[in-house]
Amino acid sequence: MTWLPLSARANRRLLTRRLRKRHIPAPTWFDIEQRDPLLARFGHRERLKLRILASEILWRKTFSPVRGMILTEAIKAYLATRIAIVIYALETPGRSTALDWLRNWRELIVYPSAFSPHRQPITPIGGNPLGLVLHTDPVEQGETSYQGPLVINWQDARPHALRQIPCQVLIHELAHKLDMLDGSSNGHPPLHASMDQQLWHDTFQAAYIHLNRRVKMGRKPGLNPYAATNPAEFFAVCSEYFFASPGRLHAIYPQVYKQLSLFYRQQPLAGIGGNKSLKGTYAESCE
Ligand SMILES: [Zn+2]
Repeated sequence: MTWLPLSARANRRLLTRRLRKRHIPAPTWFDIEQRDPLLARFGHRERLKLRILASEILWRKTFSPVRGMILTEAIKAYLATRIAIVIYALETPGRSTALDWLRNWRELIVYPSAFSPHRQPITPIGGNPLGLVLHTDPVEQGETSYQGPLVINWQDARPHALRQIPCQVLIHELAHKLDMLDGSSNGHPPLHASMDQQLWHDTFQAAYIHLNRRVKMGRKPGLNPYAATNPAEFFAVCSEYFFASPGRLHAIYPQVYKQLSLFYRQQPLAGIGGNKSLKGTYAESCE
């Protein structure tokens, strides 16, 4: 999809046409709007774009339930919307669409709850093996590999501070996939031409070293200490905070927040606060 500069009326017509072709049904979308706190900062027109983008993700990607997971259309739409929020502003007109950033996976496998990393291998669509699993996340309970699908669990029952806002595991695993787009998983995704590669490296390295030092000294790290595992996990965990708890990330590592805002081309902190409550979750209503 391409968002070219058009007159407001022409743009509205274009959006309406796209929405008519393939769309998340209105009742489902309204339910997501009511219940997903991450949508609170998006205005009416931005939500229209998000709905179209999420609808296209639903159409292009396969959402596969395993181990008894009941993947309703509403849950699929919710997951697609979360993906759309992450890639919402990644389009570069004339060069790449937002959906191009999802080119290294085509299937999202959803477990009902935490799964064992020693489980029997599952076969994704196409019958190909999952490939080398690079990240099996014990806390987030998701999984990512270069060749394979995204693997998440819908409901992690274990207590976790971040679980107040559900499904960061999806943001986490998606961040790994974005990181892998340039062929390596190192916390340095392919940056936009306008960004400073060295500044990104130096900023993330300094914060990563700082976090590791605090963890080793037994001090409260401020972020999920799992971020201290390696630079790839640091980027994935910081991406979770960037979207789900931006104030905390900005308070601890403001320069990391700034680099992520340049990469994702979003300012979650500017839109969250006041009476836009983060309480109440979609997950609760789906139980
Ligand atoms: Zn991870």
